[in-house]
Order: sequence, then structure tokens, then C-alpha cells
Amino acid sequence: MSALLPILLRRIEQSGPMPLSEYMALCLGHPEHGYYTSRDPLGAAGDFTTAPEISQMFGELLGLWLAQAWMDQGAPRGVYAELGPGRGTLSADALRAASRVPGLAEALGRPQLVDISPVLRARQAEALAGRDPEWRDRVEDLPDGPLFLLANEFFDALPIRQYQKRGGRWRERVVTAKDGKLALALGPLAKADDLPAHAPEGALREHSPACEAVAAQIGARLAAHGGAALIVDYGYPAQPLSGGDTFQAMRGHAYTDPYEAPGEADLTAHVDFAAIAKAAEAAGAKAWPLMTQGALLETLGITARAQALAARGDAEAVAAAHRRLCHPEEMGTLFKALALTGPDAPPPPGFG
Ligand code: SAH
Repeated sequence: MSALLPILLRRIEQSGPMPLSEYMALCLGHPEHGYYTSRDPLGAAGDFTTAPEISQMFGELLGLWLAQAWMDQGAPRGVYAELGPGRGTLSADALRAASRVPGLAEALGRPQLVDISPVLRARQAEALAGRDPEWRDRVEDLPDGPLFLLANEFFDALPIRQYQKRGGRWRERVVTAKDGKLALALGPLAKADDLPAHAPEGALREHSPACEAVAAQIGARLAAHGGAALIVDYGYPAQPLSGGDTFQAMRGHAYTDPYEAPGEADLTAHVDFAAIAKAAEAAGAKAWPLMTQGALLETLGITARAQALAARGDAEAVAAAHRRLCHPEEMGTLFKALALTGPDAPPPPGFG
């Protein structure tokens, strides 16, 4: 039973229908009954699995990517940060690999972890025991300095708004109540500034002010202090003109109705990488041409790493993980990698 449902119904009764972004933010982040605030959703017994949980190879290669970018920029004192670290596996693997580079661990100091989930913060503390991490509520709270940042499946969890073209005009989609249940409706006319005039009737556009705000924060820091950020997620290079509804709910590794059990399912949307790149560039950073996850991991040497691991252990499991991370029919092309740096930085590994 969803503890959040009566709270949402009452709120809608009192203040009217809410934008999808507000619904998504409450379902995921409600202080008591939010999906992320109240559980560890990852793994076989949870609702979904992510690349770092599939294999250590993912985090190791991303860690070496970051270490190379750090060396290429003159090995400065700076800040290591991860956004939405989940169980802490990515940072544990990345820092283990990157710390083999002399001086890196000392130069980057205490790992900075941005996460809203107390449950997952506890898991992160276990995974990074010995590295003395610090937690931050928001990207704005990160310390200043050259920023070396990783984010995997973080942006897809940030709230989106949806707009639909009906009768030639854009309206915002809102969540309302009907017969004691939540339902979708078309709300007020939307300001058409960001919405394409030529989109066909029925087009459904998604817009994430939250994604753009985080990208702008990262971009401003990279522009001011240098560093490099690698953002990996599923999404499209740019949203098609006619858009598409990518808002989805996952529970027990299966898709479910996003309005049925608020707070009990993971809610996500495809990431619009063009929008993120644009926001980071508007803040002064450089966005490198997007790569697929499969192409990036292959370029960074996943095959060699898989062979080395296979020689030491369960070759079949290593081959299966390699396939899952890189094959076009698995995560290889749906997932993309966006690299951001300061405007004058050399190309980060794999992006040159
Ligand atoms: N990166 C991890 C976990 C992905 S799940 C992995 O790849 O396995 C999304 C993560 O983002 C969780 O740790 C969740 O608690 C965190 N998160 C979701 N919304 C957030 C927000 N608005 N601010 C900070 N962290 C958030």
C-alpha cells in the first residue's frame, strides 16, 4: 500500500493538479515516504540494476578516465565528486583504480558524494570505508576547485515536465485526482518559449529544468576552475521534434503504471543530452561530442580488462558482463556518455 497516495490526493484537493515535475520529485524524494529516501532499490532483490553493479570493470574504467583527465590537466589539487552514488560501488571501483596513479588520492582529498537517500548514504559509507567521504545535499554545496565528477543514472531520476500539443497549442501535462486515484490531465496553456512551433499535433515534449540546473552548476565550476565530468545515462542525443513520452516506472525489474503506487516504484525519464550539453556550455564549459557507453568502454580498454579478469576467475560471468555493458542490444547504445570540461582543456580520454 502506498503511504504517499493519501498525502498526494489531499495536496491535489487543496492546491489543484500538480506538474509532473512536482509529482516525480515527491515520489522519489518525499522526506518520509519517497522512493529513494525510504529504501535501497538496487540489485537482484530490488527494482533495477545499474552498470557499476553489473561489473567492477565499469567503475575501474571510469576511474582511469578521470585519472587521465586529471593528469592531462596538470594533476591539480581538486575535488572528486559523484552524483547519486547508489550503493557507492562506482566510486569504490573508480577510486581504487584511479588511486594507483601517484599523488591522485592526496590531490583530490575527501570524496564528495551528492545524494538525497539516507539509506543509500549508509551503503556508500560502507563501500567507501577508509576513504572518509563527505556527503552533500546538492551540487551547489560542493567545495570549489578543479572538479573531477562522475554521474551514472543520476540525471534520469531528476524531475521532468511534459507538454502536449493539442488544437495547435501547447499545454502542460499535470497529475490530478479522479475517484480517489491519481490520473493524468492536460493543464494550462504553456509558455511556448522552449517548445518547437513546428511540432506536429499531438507531439509530446519533455523538459527537465532540474537536469539543466545541475548541468549549469557543473559547467560553471568547470569553466571557473577546470576539471572534467563524465555523465552516463540512458537517453537520446537530442529529443525528436515530435517528442515522446519516456516517463516510466520500474518495480521488481518490470515496468509498471507510474501513477498506481507513488513512492513504491522507481520513476525515470530519458535524458535529453543535447539539453544538458547546452546548459553546461551556456555556463562556459565545453561539451564533447556524445559517445555511446559501448564505444566509450571499448575505447577505454574493456576488452583487455575483461581478459585479465577472466584469466583469474569466472570467465563466463566476465564475458556476460562485458556483453551486457557494451552490446548494442543490451546497454551499449541506449546508454550514452557525455564528457564536459573547461573551455581550453585537452580532449578527455576517448573523446579526442
Ligand atoms: N549511480 C548509482 C545509483 C543510481 S540510482 C548506480 O549507478 O548504481 C539514483 C541515485 O541518485 C540514488 O543514489 C539516489 O538516491 C540518488 N538521487 C536521486 N534523486 C536525487 C536528487 N534529486 N538529488 C541527489 N541524489 C538523488
